[in-house]
Amino acid sequence: MIHDFGMIKNLYDTLRDRQTAIRKKIGRPLTLSEKILYSHLAEDLDELPERKKSYVYLNPDRVAMQDATAQMALLQFMSSGRKKVGVPSTVHCDHLIQAEVGARDDLARANTENKEVYDFLASVSNKYGIGFWKPGAGIIHQVVLENYAFPGGLMLGTDSHTPNAGGLGMLAIGVGGADAVDVMAGLPWELKWPGIIGVHLTGEMSGWTSAKDVILKLAGILTVKGGTGNIVEYFGPGAQSISCTGKGTICNMGAEIGATTSVFPYDNRMATYLRYTGREKLAELADKHTAELTADPEVFQKPSQYFDQIIEINLDKLEPHINGPFSPDRAWPISRMREAVKEQGFPEEIKVALIGSCTNSSYEDIDRSANIAKFAAEKGLKAKSEFTITPGSEQIRATIERDGQLEALTKIGALVLANACGPCIGQWKRHDVKSGEKNTIVSSYNRNFAKRNDGNPATHSFVAGPEIVTALALAGKLTFNPLTDHIETPDGNKVKLEAPKGAELPERGFDPGESGYIPPAEDGSDVEVKVDPESDRLQLLEPFKSWDGNDYEDLVVLIKAQGKCTTDHISPAGPWLRFRGHLNNISDNMFIGAVNAFGYDPGTAKNTRTGKVDKISANARQYKSENIGWVAIGDDNYGEGSSREHAAMEPRFLGGKAIIVKSFARIHETNLKKQGMLALTFKNPSDYDLIREDDRVSIRGLKDFKPGVPLKLVIKHSDGSQNECLLDHSFNEAQIAWFKAGSALNLIAKEER
Ligand code: SF4
Repeated sequence: MIHDFGMIKNLYDTLRDRQTAIRKKIGRPLTLSEKILYSHLAEDLDELPERKKSYVYLNPDRVAMQDATAQMALLQFMSSGRKKVGVPSTVHCDHLIQAEVGARDDLARANTENKEVYDFLASVSNKYGIGFWKPGAGIIHQVVLENYAFPGGLMLGTDSHTPNAGGLGMLAIGVGGADAVDVMAGLPWELKWPGIIGVHLTGEMSGWTSAKDVILKLAGILTVKGGTGNIVEYFGPGAQSISCTGKGTICNMGAEIGATTSVFPYDNRMATYLRYTGREKLAELADKHTAELTADPEVFQKPSQYFDQIIEINLDKLEPHINGPFSPDRAWPISRMREAVKEQGFPEEIKVALIGSCTNSSYEDIDRSANIAKFAAEKGLKAKSEFTITPGSEQIRATIERDGQLEALTKIGALVLANACGPCIGQWKRHDVKSGEKNTIVSSYNRNFAKRNDGNPATHSFVAGPEIVTALALAGKLTFNPLTDHIETPDGNKVKLEAPKGAELPERGFDPGESGYIPPAEDGSDVEVKVDPESDRLQLLEPFKSWDGNDYEDLVVLIKAQGKCTTDHISPAGPWLRFRGHLNNISDNMFIGAVNAFGYDPGTAKNTRTGKVDKISANARQYKSENIGWVAIGDDNYGEGSSREHAAMEPRFLGGKAIIVKSFARIHETNLKKQGMLALTFKNPSDYDLIREDDRVSIRGLKDFKPGVPLKLVIKHSDGSQNECLLDHSFNEAQIAWFKAGSALNLIAKEER
């Protein structure tokens, strides 16, 4: 089935004209990234956007949400008053399934433990026209690649590895829930116009090297920050030598270098994948638009004129890599690993080897791993490490079961986990080591920060291609190099594993397996969304109160944050993930990691009413109960990090009126504005020093709140003295209307009425 064929055709029909017009305006040929961005502009631009400087509004084609982030996104969407989503959207139940004993039992347990969350997501999806993928149907990015991604499209996903769809030529960007809500409500989405890094691929991979090694190598070159603010655009003859799903793997893990997203140009490998996944007509259509779905030829001829940076990777010479531990950019070519283990003191024994995940569970990946497993089984070998496999989707699982790869892998000892994230996101009840015990695991996943997989800070987690992980599982040692080393068989012989071979796609086509998709009701107006008022995981949102028309007077200072105050300091994840759909409960974590300039333990402050030191969230609750407004003061780049909207919703929910800082991280600043908070900056950053613990502050000038006009802060100190200073802001007219309405959603709801 082809989803949204009409919408895609309409887009393609306009591509040539739009691109010709913009080419003329810019006066030069276009990269693929520019073609897609310009084709999705939501406004006519007077001036051309400047890379890494200008902000533009875009109209994405689609939204995808995973179950952990979808909860608050959909609760917010419900408050918008819209009857249906404005763009095609889907929800995928993949993050909440904990791996322990194997697919069937783990899935059954998740269905019981998360029942109310799943029921909620299913009913909201049904009501508002959102496609719903049940638990067990697969991991968001694999399901999107199989069903929804299309060349030249623009998609937002509430998950960092959304760029996976770049393997099918789509610009797919990971965002916070608030951004997804805007797009689902039919509003344009704001993006800082990115820089573009060109990666020129030449040669062709062979032997043990796989697509994963391209991104493992690139992570080593660019580091975890090197892609920030950029799109990574691949090009060159080597690109065509990589399968569509291999391209997906590379784009997926582009999140690990901080890139906005990554993308490959449309080619015949993508067309083949579209055909195998039931989208023949779409492949035909895309074939006719190849010129619009690839960069202009001049870009390939003189790339340095079009890209901000160019990186060359020769696939002929690319060695398999193993990256880690604790950071995905610690790249070790496999020939250097033995030395690295010795030098760095990494534990040599591999406790667990894990293949699959959204990053590496294509038919090709699993077929190559199964090929190694078959060879090993013939020689009587079994995995020495624990060995798990996480299929990325039910379609993959059913096909590799039918075609025998699962059997080959289980024969050497693999345990098949549910088609879900499991150990990749820390949903793993691990029994073999205790917390704090130093140990090594190696996976074909993407992220390997401390504690990510099992919560154990001493676990040394490495990432590699699935064929390398399979070979390492057989050897049980991180020092094993399958390109050169032998393994001893039970009968005492020494064998060298053969380099893996694998089919790109199943000869007999895909087996869809058990259907996990539930389409939404045609007319969802009668669908009831149930949320138990006693639930501790879900809570319907009450609209925030609109502005009362007066200046804010005599506000208390809740906290004066000092130094780094990221969204993780304001609203961390970890155990709080459970409460992502319950604003009241999750608000207990507000500022729990923030360092208070007035002293005390992180996350605590003096309650200026009682004089006692307490949790910051507890103080805020008390001020709120007494109808006393408060402000939070912050340092530079306040709110950097993840775009999670909880960090903006919680202060608003607990009675905050303004966040006043030296400077903001842009996304968080916008998130605060969306929730109806005043996001303000000291005109003179050193005025931060004027704020004392027992101050009462007033924000004046709100009656004439205008773009570009500063507000005034009057600071009354407890000794009777007083200071005044100016507060800058970046509110435009539309954002001032959000403030006055109480939130952006209130305004949308008002317009809807
Ligand atoms: S498998 Fe891992 S990387 Fe992929 S969506 Fe799940 S948690 Fe994220």
